[in-house]
Amino acid sequence: MRYYALRERRDVERSKWSGSFHLDRQWGLPGVKCPTCRETWAGVGYDYPTVDLSSLTERRELERAQCVPWEQFVKLRERVLPLVPRGAVVEPGTGFGALTGKAKGKFPPVVIHMPWLLLIQPALAARLTGLTGAIPVPTRFKARPGVAELLELEVQPGGSIRGVDAGEPCRTCGRGDSEMPLPPFDEMRLDNVPTVDFSRVFRTVVVVSERVLERLGRELEESEILAVDVTSDRPTRTSARRAGVDVSP
Ligand SMILES: [Zn+2]
Repeated sequence: MRYYALRERRDVERSKWSGSFHLDRQWGLPGVKCPTCRETWAGVGYDYPTVDLSSLTERRELERAQCVPWEQFVKLRERVLPLVPRGAVVEPGTGFGALTGKAKGKFPPVVIHMPWLLLIQPALAARLTGLTGAIPVPTRFKARPGVAELLELEVQPGGSIRGVDAGEPCRTCGRGDSEMPLPPFDEMRLDNVPTVDFSRVFRTVVVVSERVLERLGRELEESEILAVDVTSDRPTRTSARRAGVDVSP
């Protein structure tokens, strides 16, 4: 099975899609100041829109973007952990619940944003039937009716990318001691291959299988999204070409 990282095309002179966001999320764990490594940090990318924290007495505290001492973070994390899916990575900055905020303009069938968020138009949800690793969750953007009824895909961590081992992690907060920069998309290769069709192989990188390209190839192209082959041997273009998607390298 071949796998592809998705990114927006950069060679489109004038996009036909004008959609833009001002993003927020219902809840999130705060950032921390770690007493051991002395870093002040919050991660991005590990978000779980299916997780509902409305039953927690701490829900108000989890609505605010803030930075807290490590002990306070641990208390909040303990409250959240029983509610998260198995295999989830939960760290400072991890988000829960629906995407909120404002959206305006015209969105394509598939939206890749930041690029660690993956969203689809509701009409495409049925096409994901039988594919594994992604759960579509309604977003709650403030927008004009019909503008942004997008579904966010919850994609679980799994698999890994070669060469992004962040060294010995901090024994307290788990932060890598030397956060390695990601290789460019064209040079990215999988180390551990995911076992599902959608997988978060790094906090900011979602990969999809060739089965996803077969189902959504036309929509990805229409959405001005490039599928970059990250399978470990040298890529071939056949499977994606068959689906009508431009693949690089
Ligand atoms: Zn630390």
